[in-house]
Amino acid sequence: MKLAKRLSNLGTENAFEVLSEVHRLKAAGRDIISFAIGEPDFNTSDNIKQAGIQAIRGNFTHYSPSAGILPLREAIAGYISATRNIRAYPDEVVVTPGGKPIIYYVLHALIDPGDEVIYPNPGFPIYESVIRFTGGVPVPAPILEEKDFSLDTAGLEKLITPRTKLIILNSPHNPTGGMLTAKDLTTIAELACRHNLWVLSDEIYSRITYDDTFASISSLPGMQQRTIILDGFSKTYAMTGWRLGYGVMPQELAIQIARLITNCESCTNTFVQYAGLEALAGPQNFVDSMISEFRARRDLIVAGLNSIAGVSCKIPKGAFYVFPNITEACSRLGLSNSKALQQHLLYNGDVAVLPRTAFGAQNAGEKQEYLRLSYATNREIIIKGLERIEKALRTPK
Ligand code: PLP
Repeated sequence: MKLAKRLSNLGTENAFEVLSEVHRLKAAGRDIISFAIGEPDFNTSDNIKQAGIQAIRGNFTHYSPSAGILPLREAIAGYISATRNIRAYPDEVVVTPGGKPIIYYVLHALIDPGDEVIYPNPGFPIYESVIRFTGGVPVPAPILEEKDFSLDTAGLEKLITPRTKLIILNSPHNPTGGMLTAKDLTTIAELACRHNLWVLSDEIYSRITYDDTFASISSLPGMQQRTIILDGFSKTYAMTGWRLGYGVMPQELAIQIARLITNCESCTNTFVQYAGLEALAGPQNFVDSMISEFRARRDLIVAGLNSIAGVSCKIPKGAFYVFPNITEACSRLGLSNSKALQQHLLYNGDVAVLPRTAFGAQNAGEKQEYLRLSYATNREIIIKGLERIEKALRTPK
């Protein structure tokens, strides 16, 4: 098939390969416990579902403005102003089908071929994929266990060159659950201002935090005018399949992102936007109870992993992932890397996890091996899954 050359630069989310393998094994009758999926196992709460149904009944089934319906943009501007301690206006908000399109559109709006983009590694694989797709140069910034899975801010300045245009941040972080500290944010903001850089701050997990309070780089002096906040409804309101997210950014850029939307999907599903309005304006106790359940599961899974020989797991500060160090487990079993251990657990232990390499190639000098487990699954399954991991790690491949 004669495809366009640019497609050879497009990556993907390897997680989906593991997911389709899990489906294949399940269809073949295997009982697989999956820690691979990055979405809440909770269902969307009833008030949000009702608002969506009402909107369909009320015939909110037509096109809406490309940037989103005004009441939702007003509600988002209000929410962001209150939670980020800034003044955000509806004209600075662009609503999209999920938070993911903000990554795609913002990189297409800002990056010319040859521009360098610094992004977290390990990190959400779509960053590197889309940077390459725009012709930009991906520059990985290590996320280190010894820094509690925060960004290596000391090394960050060395990565900045005259071609650097944008830094991508993600806190709380997928896949490690790490968070940027106030000190990290100050250092990064100072660098962004000094080198005149844009910052894409992926705050999709901002509500799912446990011990530390979430802070956004956009709150710091001089940062709002150079920051694009990415947030959405998928994780906070268990709405992954509805596809609803947004970006908050300087108005001039928002106009360009809306123009890209006009060229692509025209607008986000109109009645879904009304459901989103209810999510923001309605009761929040569903979110609070989901997060307290996540906290209990986090404590359960961290304790369980740390009791397994060859595994050591830091307590994540946010999101719903753990990122255990399995270097010793690999060497005990004679396995060369996290991918080999992931395969061993899947085929010999009936447990699906993701290898570190699903989140980017190892950084120069990186010697440790890791897995990502999502604990967005109920406690009985977590306990059963941990037993299987423990057994598989005792069993030679
Ligand atoms: N950013 C990060 C770090 C994510 O982990 C995800 C989803 O897994 C997204 C963005 C995209 O979320 P959405 O489902 O809203 O597109």
